[in-house]
Parts: sequence; C-alpha cells; structure tokens
Amino acid sequence: MIKIRNLQKSFGDKVILKNIDLDVAEGETVAIIGPSGSGKSTTLRCINLLERPDQGELTIGKNTYDFNKLTKHQITEIRRTTAMVFQNFSLYENKTALQNITLPLIKAKGYEKHEAEKTALEYLDKVGLKDWKDHYPAQLSGGQQQRVGIARALALKPEVILFDEPTSALDPERVQGVLEIIKEISKERITSVIVTHELEFALDVADKVVFIADGEVVEKGTAKEVLKSPKDERTIKFLGHFA
Ligand code: ADP
Ligand code: MG
Repeated sequence: MIKIRNLQKSFGDKVILKNIDLDVAEGETVAIIGPSGSGKSTTLRCINLLERPDQGELTIGKNTYDFNKLTKHQITEIRRTTAMVFQNFSLYENKTALQNITLPLIKAKGYEKHEAEKTALEYLDKVGLKDWKDHYPAQLSGGQQQRVGIARALALKPEVILFDEPTSALDPERVQGVLEIIKEISKERITSVIVTHELEFALDVADKVVFIADGEVVEKGTAKEVLKSPKDERTIKFLGHFA
C-alpha cells in the first residue's frame, strides 16, 4: 500500500505541488490525469525522490517516511522499493537491452552478474524481447525501448511501479503494444501509478483515477466515476466529450 499525505513541492518561489494526497491499495492501478504542467510528473518524481519534496509523508507498506527528515538509509530504501518507467525511456544508450536491466539489479539490489542476467532474460522474455537482448537502444524502436524500460522496472520487483506517460513519446502504431503490456501488469495486481493521457486505457485498466490540476488533486474516485461522471468544473472541462 502506498499513501501520500500533504506532499508539497516548490521550484524556486513557484509552488508546484500544493497539498497532494494519494492512496494506492496493494495490487491496485491508479491513473493520474490532468493538464500538461499541472504537476503529474513532479508527483511521481517526488514519490521515488528523483525530486526532493519540501514536505509531506509517504507510506510504503509498513514504513512511513517524513519527507522532511529522511535518513540516508531511508532514501536508499524508498528508491529501492519504487521503480519508474519514463516517458523518454531513459535507457543507457551505450548498454544493450540486457545490460540496461542487469545494471540496476547489480547496483541497487546487489545481485551477482549471472543472477542478474537470469532475471533480466526472464523479464525480457515477458515483454517479448528475448531475441533483442544484445541490441542497443538505438537499434530498437521506441516501443521496444519502452518495453525494455518496463522490463527493467519489473525486474527490480518494487512495491510500486510509477509510469510517467509511458506511451506519449511513441509513434501511434507502437502505443497499443505497450499499453497491452501495462494492462497485463495491472492484471497481475502489481501495484502501479500511471500518469497517462490515454483516457480509454485508464477507463479500461485503472481501479481509480485521480485528476490533478494546478498542483492539486481536484477529483478522485473509481475510473468510471471520474472519467464518466466528473463533478468538478475543471475535470468536466478537461475531459470534454470523453465523459
Ligand atoms: P506535468 O507532468 O503535469 O506536465 P510537471 O510535473 O512536469 O507537470 O511540471 C509542473 C510544473 O513544474 C511546470 O510548470 C514545470 O515547468 C515545473 N517544473 C518541473 N520540473 C521543474 C524543475 N526541475 N525546475 C523548475 N520547474 C520545474
Ligand atoms: Mg509530465
């Protein structure tokens, strides 16, 4: 279970996240939607400390952390129990698909090399890329690169996977394949938070949807409630004809 309370973040004197609360039950898939620039990526980046929050509390499973008083050990622990799938894949260009997965397993999880390779192959197979293991990112399509990104996150066996617009950098014909894989992950009840503009996908896959605007949670509920019967003016305007 993931619980965030009162998450606040400013860049300089610009307040980006005002007071974000978020609950993700174990095995649940929560979609975050909202206008561009509203703080969706910053929210995810604060959860795994790619950005340092100014204030707030995070619970992952049995552990609760105060963002104001994080020890080095806690920072490592939070990074180790969360994994991110990035919009632009964020793969090492000079490493093969396999190495992109083994490296964090060796570095962050302390795996032996052969153990890391066995695990990496297992997850490359899961995303349909076993035969592409020795290819470099530049030799892979965007969809394949993102599947490596997803395999890398899964291999870490995190408490939660954070997807930041995983398909928005893809050519249209590659989107569906990647969404299918994320749907599979969701069906396996791997706890996940997905920032996405794919509303149809969110309706199909997400247990809950959270609408964020101007650094605030404006509306949340089941996918059907938020996407098909939005109540707040801003949600209604954002969803337009979709609702
Ligand atoms: P979203 O993902 O919803 O599009 P972001 O979380 O990326 O929004 O950004 C929210 C706001 O924070 C934007 O106004 C963006 O310009 C600003 N922002 C994001 N990252 C930084 C940063 N590292 N430094 C300064 N401003 C930032
Ligand atoms: Mg973003």
